[in-house]
Amino acid sequence: MRVLLIEDDELLAAGIRGSITNEGYTIDWLEDGESALHALSIEHFDMVILDIGLPNCSGIDVLKDLRKNQNKVPVLILSANCTVSDRVTGLDAGADDYLTKPFNSTELKARLRALIRRGSGRANPIIQYRDIELNVISHAISYGKKNVSLGRREFSLLRQLLEHEGQVLSREQLQQTIYGWDDDVASNAIEVHIHHLRKKFYTSLIRTIRGVGYIIENAT
Ligand code: CA
Repeated sequence: MRVLLIEDDELLAAGIRGSITNEGYTIDWLEDGESALHALSIEHFDMVILDIGLPNCSGIDVLKDLRKNQNKVPVLILSANCTVSDRVTGLDAGADDYLTKPFNSTELKARLRALIRRGSGRANPIIQYRDIELNVISHAISYGKKNVSLGRREFSLLRQLLEHEGQVLSREQLQQTIYGWDDDVASNAIEVHIHHLRKKFYTSLIRTIRGVGYIIENAT
């Protein structure tokens, strides 16, 4: 799950990054609306956390532009403005949720989980594929009757491939899902994670399409 945080308060941004990275998100941070709109136009994010009071242009303008460009990424607004009319303005501009500062990080995390559930169109947090079950909320994974433990990045990688069952995903697409801009990425990082996943489940779970990418075939 890749999250873009748009927040000009450095301290607050650091706090949010710290608390949600522990939940398994890959988070990238920008301080102003213009660079955020640019990033959102060229890269895929699963969620956006958007501050309203930004330098140069307001978060509401960012949101309006985003929706005008048909970008449907779930957006959670963070704002110090707490009147009913502020919240209504945010939601009417296309936000999916609105959280008033100061907020509790436990609540932020719960709201992000709710956005993921809604965004995936699944009422049920469990992705099932043959005898593999992956819970996107609790991060529990089972294979047959056994529990499997995966690192944060392997979990995200498996999830991404399962959510695109039957589709080939390129190495670049997978890399973008599990690494943020600040991460050092070894050139063979994806291959190494795929190798681990095959060992923890079974080799033919993930097929390599030479020169194209990786696929988990349709279960049927
Ligand atoms: Ca601000």
